[in-house]
Amino acid sequence: MFFKGCPLRCQWCHNPESWKPLPEPGFRPSRCVRCGRCIEICPQNAVSLAETGPVTDPQKCTVCGECVTACAAGAREIIGRRTTAAEVMAEARKDVVFYDQSGGGVTFSGGEPLMQPEFLLALLETCRTEGIRTAVDTTCYATPEVIQRVAPVADLFLCDIKHMNRERHEEYTGVGNGRILENIAALARAAKEVIIRVPIVPGFNDDRANLEATARFVQGLKTVRRIDILPYNRGGLEKAGRLTGRIDLMQAQTPSDSTMNGIAEFLRGYGFEVKIGG
Ligand code: SF4
Ligand code: SF4
Repeated sequence: MFFKGCPLRCQWCHNPESWKPLPEPGFRPSRCVRCGRCIEICPQNAVSLAETGPVTDPQKCTVCGECVTACAAGAREIIGRRTTAAEVMAEARKDVVFYDQSGGGVTFSGGEPLMQPEFLLALLETCRTEGIRTAVDTTCYATPEVIQRVAPVADLFLCDIKHMNRERHEEYTGVGNGRILENIAALARAAKEVIIRVPIVPGFNDDRANLEATARFVQGLKTVRRIDILPYNRGGLEKAGRLTGRIDLMQAQTPSDSTMNGIAEFLRGYGFEVKIGG
């Protein structure tokens, strides 16, 4: 389950459509045949024609969805929707047989699920009551109070460590790492299970000094045994192009298998179980 809204702005983000905490219009230029239907039908006059095709003014758009219905080419979409805990649970229950067979469960991801703590807690509590296993995939950028409340309710936390240097973290994500590292340490003390996830972004955090600092920090947590390393995924660049608001993401190459294997071996040297991919 992907929550919309995130307090970070990671320059390598592969889900930039989850940055804003509200539904928003999206547009796939490659599908547009420039028929002009969206311009004609928009009740807010939010769509105009530019040289590159139709352009939507996010200030005027009320996300009514009329242009989506009118676009026969499937070029327009509304990204995200308002929902209720009851609706989300109805979706989650559809896969209960699968969870039972696989030992899996529901992962709450985003965006940042801790940005909507009451909603997340309601879902976690209901899952717990119904015996559905839960994981929270989080940046850990939240208040200590939120961390304390969610820690005992989820079965697993997947916590990102993006960079150990505060300035570099802030430069590439928009926030420092102090609160994040404190929250990870608090979860390691209070939660049932924590797995650390490190996105490997070439040129940002793949140098030995940072990997060593990461490994030493995780060693200090005592209860954490596993680190997942996730190769940078260029898919975010295409997704960013579909959004109305301009998002400038960094350009990097996806690390090779041999690079990922080398980093995995390096971290295993510190005694961790290391998995490549999530
Ligand atoms: S209705 Fe669809 S295909 Fe036609 S101009 Fe608008 S986005 Fe393009
Ligand atoms: S979602 Fe509604 S308001 Fe927004 S561009 Fe489409 S038709 Fe216009």
